[in-house]
Amino acid sequence: MRHIDATELAQSQTGGERSVAQATQLLPIGLTQARGRRARPPRHLADLDPAGRRAAVAALGQPGYRADQLSRHYFGRLTDDPADMTDLPSGLRTELAGALLPPLLTAQRELECDGGTTRKTLWRAFDGAFVESVLMRYPDRVTMCVSSQSGCGMACPFCATGQAGLTRNLSAAEIVTQVFAGARVMAAGAVPGGPGRVSNVVFMGMGEPLANYASVLAAVRRITEPAPAGLGISQRSVTVSTVGLVPAIRKLADEQLSVRLAVSLHAPDDELRNELVPVNRRWKVAEVLDAAFGYAAATGRRVSIEYAMIRDINDQAWRADLLAGLLAGRLAHVNLIPLNPTPGSKWTASDPDVAAEFLDRLASCGVPVTVRDTRGTQIDGACGQLAAASSPSNASTV
Ligand code: SAH
Repeated sequence: MRHIDATELAQSQTGGERSVAQATQLLPIGLTQARGRRARPPRHLADLDPAGRRAAVAALGQPGYRADQLSRHYFGRLTDDPADMTDLPSGLRTELAGALLPPLLTAQRELECDGGTTRKTLWRAFDGAFVESVLMRYPDRVTMCVSSQSGCGMACPFCATGQAGLTRNLSAAEIVTQVFAGARVMAAGAVPGGPGRVSNVVFMGMGEPLANYASVLAAVRRITEPAPAGLGISQRSVTVSTVGLVPAIRKLADEQLSVRLAVSLHAPDDELRNELVPVNRRWKVAEVLDAAFGYAAATGRRVSIEYAMIRDINDQAWRADLLAGLLAGRLAHVNLIPLNPTPGSKWTASDPDVAAEFLDRLASCGVPVTVRDTRGTQIDGACGQLAAASSPSNASTV
């Protein structure tokens, strides 16, 4: 764990990222921001909007329509192989693909469970940073759970990723690549159930998406814009999950997007939340909920309040009542997540009867509440279990 000073922050942030970075520079001791002066991931088509792509091919001496051709291959046909790009002159294919479709993430390890319908991939980036993504096929949808950072600086003590600290922010294209890979295996029919599409994306893998605001926003745009600009997944089917970085939530509310916001609350009172979600020392429960309700008002979308049920820690009846009081009548619903105990953790999941009573108390106050399906526990792919960087046994190449 390290603390970052304002100079380092300024070095590590540019443009639109800065205002959020400035807002987070008061993070309490123990929370981390991305380090400055790191080598950046190679630039990729998915980092750029259509105008940026045309400018990039123009810089290579090519007309703008080449960017559209490349985009149709990547976002529309889901290929980054120059051999498939038969509408481009053969010499140019390799040049354009080399300049704009560099390999960003290499799959190091694939694990599956649920008869192959849950698949976790451990990815290695150009600089050796590790991230993980998880594909989950359900009867009615296919969800990609993606990482926005390698590691995480938010230090939530019950989360495996939080224990390892932050390695670095991912670029927009490194995030999009995870969805692209899922879209490709679905299109190829490689997941039991026949060929299909990725319908949903959740930013619930490694990292705090709103601490990597500019790249996450660019990735959301790439994921949701119709092909050939992007992958064409509905904004309403994309969920950004946050510990509650209030200025960034407010900024997101102004973006004119209809993505779903999930807030990892985990406790209705500041005393406990300060411990479970340390950034609460900077932005309190009331401020976080105020920003979340503001997001709901701006977008018309119900916010999702995430609550990991931890035995004898946050599952008391009085905390259910307190939470119900904060949420009743609001555009919000509660998602209860049975805690996945992390290695060495002193905490465990709530007793099922206690969890059922917690749920009943919320429901009886008219607060919509569901219990999160926790897929992928056997492959360490469930909520809070993504911790590739801290687990050397995962780092072997297959
Ligand atoms: N940084 C984002 C995304 C993190 S992962 C956020 O905090 O929202 C998505 C969800 O999994 C969060 O709600 C997180 O608190 C939860 N989670 C983390 N570790 C968990 C664990 N061990 N058991 C259950 N849920 C966990």
